[in-house]
Amino acid sequence: MKGRILNIQKFSIHDGPGIRTTLFMKGCPLECRWCHNPESIGYERDIMIDIEKCSSCGSCARLCAYDALKMVEVPEGKVLVKDKNLCIGCGKCEVYCINEAISIVGRDMEVEDVIGELLKDRLFYEESGGGVTISGGEPLVQADFTAKILKKLKEEGIHTAVDTCGQVPFENFEKVMEYTDLFLYDLKIGDERKHLEYTGASNKRIIGNLKRLSEAGAEITARMIMVDGVNTEDEDIEKAIGILVETDISKINILPYHNISNHKYRKLGKSYNEEGMTVPSGKRMEEIKEMLEEKGYEVAIGG
Ligand code: SF4
Ligand code: SF4
Repeated sequence: MKGRILNIQKFSIHDGPGIRTTLFMKGCPLECRWCHNPESIGYERDIMIDIEKCSSCGSCARLCAYDALKMVEVPEGKVLVKDKNLCIGCGKCEVYCINEAISIVGRDMEVEDVIGELLKDRLFYEESGGGVTISGGEPLVQADFTAKILKKLKEEGIHTAVDTCGQVPFENFEKVMEYTDLFLYDLKIGDERKHLEYTGASNKRIIGNLKRLSEAGAEITARMIMVDGVNTEDEDIEKAIGILVETDISKINILPYHNISNHKYRKLGKSYNEEGMTVPSGKRMEEIKEMLEEKGYEVAIGG
């Protein structure tokens, strides 16, 4: 069975306990305005073009047998334009470009090949109390593939974590629960209208799944990304607490938003709308941490 992978990142220390390898899957049902991995959102393969490296030589456009790349005349000269709908992801242009200006994101890998890659770092997992985290994108969009990976890892005695946005049918959770030691569950915005505005979807299913997962006895750490202008006011935190008190969750990671991903949006040919979103101050992060700790939660900034 094949799954569509974005990346396998080694030596991660922010995706669960210990030293971990993080398997990033392609495809996400949400489109958060602040997403720092925009190349993970679409399930289809994407072409990323670094215009600062591209010399407009046109070689890749001549090479592509599927007309997915074209040189287009503009007043300043020529620019490379992509049509990702025509691209089949063969990767030839990526290899051919001597300036390394192109990258194809998304590759299909067999379960066995992914497992082989993940097991290479077993020693680091064992020595640090770490393991493997499956993230995305949203790993439970490809729940059957994710379940197979998790099952094999458990057979090898490796700690497993799933980093999820929660916006999938609950049956997808049921497929992986047995093999998942820890869920890192994103709780982005408590207010439904704002959630819809900033992520493109209501939070009803996400909250419902969180409660059901907790009732089922899963180990869960809530992860709350903090974006000034969106969800860092006292009333936002109180709304989040109102959701969390209906679960058995005791651990929360609060993660400050950062706006360092503009270059990725440019490479994808997307615009990054950061209007109304700013990075919360260290002081505000500490205040939020205290608010949550006063309610009895174990809170870490980052992680
Ligand atoms: S991406 Fe590379 S091969 Fe394609 S036009 Fe630019 S420099 Fe040439
Ligand atoms: S990956 Fe293959 S199909 Fe896609 S643009 Fe490059 S050469 Fe064309």
